[in-house]
Amino acid sequence: MEAFSRSEIREDRYSRLRLIPWWDQARIKACRVLVIGAGALGNEILKNMALLGFQRVVVVDLDRIELSNLSRTVLYRAEDVGEQKALTAARAYRSLAEDALVQPIVAHAVHDCGLGIFEWADLILAGLDNREARLWINRAAWKVGRPWVDGAIEGINGVVRVFLPGRAPCYECTLGEVDWAILEKRMSCNLLAHSSEAEGKVPTTPTISSIIAGIQVQEAVKLLHGLPTLASRGYVFEGLNHTSYVVEYTENPDCMSHYTIPELVRLPESSVEWTVEQLWHRAQLELGRAEVTLEFSRDVIWRLVCPRCGTVEERFAAVGSVLYDEGACSCDGQQRVVETIHGYTGSEAWGCRRLTELGLPLLDIYVARSAEREIGYLPEGDREAVLGVAAAEGSTLA
Ligand SMILES: [Zn+2]
Ligand SMILES: [Zn+2]
Repeated sequence: MEAFSRSEIREDRYSRLRLIPWWDQARIKACRVLVIGAGALGNEILKNMALLGFQRVVVVDLDRIELSNLSRTVLYRAEDVGEQKALTAARAYRSLAEDALVQPIVAHAVHDCGLGIFEWADLILAGLDNREARLWINRAAWKVGRPWVDGAIEGINGVVRVFLPGRAPCYECTLGEVDWAILEKRMSCNLLAHSSEAEGKVPTTPTISSIIAGIQVQEAVKLLHGLPTLASRGYVFEGLNHTSYVVEYTENPDCMSHYTIPELVRLPESSVEWTVEQLWHRAQLELGRAEVTLEFSRDVIWRLVCPRCGTVEERFAAVGSVLYDEGACSCDGQQRVVETIHGYTGSEAWGCRRLTELGLPLLDIYVARSAEREIGYLPEGDREAVLGVAAAEGSTLA
């Protein structure tokens, strides 16, 4: 006679996963994950997450699906060519995990994502192809104290790295002279962006993206269960000679990423309800000081000034979101000088603008600073507009 009848054995979709002694399906279900990039790595990350039962997901990607993506993207079909990657990936995710709350965000990871999106997440997984985006994610993750798992692939080689909040070495610490040279070349050019980006066409295969993304998600699961991870280290996989090893990094004492916002105030209003000046006044009261600077999450292009004809155009757009070609003046194509702002000190003429009129994304964080103290303000009234179905509830993680 059998000890248990079949009906007594708890069989469901995740029952094989539960056989792993340390496995906690509820923890996976409750975890809020931000996936940045829905290309070769992003597809494999999302596929693994859906199969594992992650049910709270935001996926960010600006691009549309191209025919050449289909050799490395399990979530996309021929009929999806031309569609937004984030939207198609979210739909495919739900077809693998029908109860999941998956919110697509069609946005540039660097210019269009408010820090509140990072703050929403319990962990961040990145499937990116450039250093600029990684550097931005690293700084954003530090500011809001969130772990992130990076993956990078080229040819049949790849690397996975885990970065924990407030812990060095971080991604920026790992950057060497060659990396900075590439970064500076990308970010220079009079602060205006070039339309066709040099990076983005990396030679890769679906086999390496599945290996690297598989390890990324596995590290995420281990992190979630409090198991040892690749924290501040890199796992390198070289497909040609089946070599794999772990690299250690060294902390850079001058690293610009090492800053965490010490105190966060959640404003119930949306950012359209606050002018810059109003928020600055509120910060003055809260900080108990007259001299307060309200800092933005990123530099903003304030004006374009023509050195030849003297014309001044007010722009208010995040640095990087204005194309180089737009910098030319109508007088005779003269390239205009870009003037930027990165905070408000109480006297600037544009203080009467609403936060939404600065060119900064919704659900961003504004850090008010006095000599002694700093407070970050997060307009949570933006949550639904940005996070959609994912905005529903707070984190249920312990
Ligand atoms: Zn660092
Ligand atoms: Zn001009």
